Amino acid sequence: MSNIQQQVFGTMPDGEQVDSFTLSNNQGSSVTLLTLGATIQSWKINDHNGQSDIVLGFDKVEGYLADQGYIGRTVGRYANRIANGRFCIDGTEYNVSTNLQGNSLHGGVDGFHNRIWSVGGLVDDSPSVTLNLLSPDGDQGFPGNLEVKVTFTLDDDNCLSIEYYAQSDKDTLFNPTQHSYFNLAGHDSGDILSQQVRLMASHYTPADEHAIPTGEIISVKNTAFDLTQLSVLAERVKSQDPEIKAASGLDHNWCIDGFDPAQHTARTAATIVDPKSARKLIMRTTMPGVQVYTANFLGDTQGKEGALYGQYHGVCLESQFYPNSPNEPGFPSPVLRKDSEFRSTTTYQLVATEH
Ligand code: BGC
Repeated sequence: MSNIQQQVFGTMPDGEQVDSFTLSNNQGSSVTLLTLGATIQSWKINDHNGQSDIVLGFDKVEGYLADQGYIGRTVGRYANRIANGRFCIDGTEYNVSTNLQGNSLHGGVDGFHNRIWSVGGLVDDSPSVTLNLLSPDGDQGFPGNLEVKVTFTLDDDNCLSIEYYAQSDKDTLFNPTQHSYFNLAGHDSGDILSQQVRLMASHYTPADEHAIPTGEIISVKNTAFDLTQLSVLAERVKSQDPEIKAASGLDHNWCIDGFDPAQHTARTAATIVDPKSARKLIMRTTMPGVQVYTANFLGDTQGKEGALYGQYHGVCLESQFYPNSPNEPGFPSPVLRKDSEFRSTTTYQLVATEH
């Protein structure tokens, strides 16, 4: 039997077809990916607690087109914020599309998340699917024809691995991420506030009221941002810390310990634990930062299978260069040089908590 099932998911308003690919493993898990936005539409698991789908999503194309929360999408060219949509590469200034408070968020008005990606390849026995996108020179103001490939692989240890590759014919920026909202108790089970999070991050980047970093990298010690031990999300989301209050919850960038641009092995960045279902998700990445976003701005939304989603109903773990890094020389650089190759890997593995 094939480990990959291809189906027609729906059609775009202009008639273009959206396909889905479901990858299945021998643990009874399956992940469905869409060519619309290189989106993770579902991650169904079958474990000691029965069947659950642990990511938020929609049943139809229309749900995705109405969504403002980037649910499940691949985000680019630049995930998170660029202040005033402005940056320089070697003295040349670029102005890119702005879509939030005068800043550029998640690639601008027409980011990668609503594009139809093409299928670059399928491998049945891993199983994996590669989705490709060509972003033309000047797309949303970003320089260079950018060729992007994202490969999703589901293994028999319930590890979903996402490998990003890109190349450009001009110096440009590249900072992709995955914007899944995880809810380990199931996408339809309400808020995640009783779940716990741990980050392998001894530093974070403080930010202003519009979530633009100040440029400092500071220790989390004795702050509400110290998540180096497993911490209940409710306590952090409701913290009186002014930065957390300003964001109505967690929506901040942590600097994952041990970043080394020459190192291509993903290091452990974050874990989420749901004590009730005894499920744990381990995130690993080669990227320098992770944005933890607790769905603070998710308004009431009709999701898959009649589920109603709302504030705090999921948690995103977005691997990334730090926000606004093109304008912060002290941050790892998101510049992708002409004809050089961008490669990064982020994985999410589901295990039982006794592991
Ligand atoms: C951002 C949030 C934003 C959310 C959904 C997150 O990555 O940091 O500020 O509201 O995405 O759009």
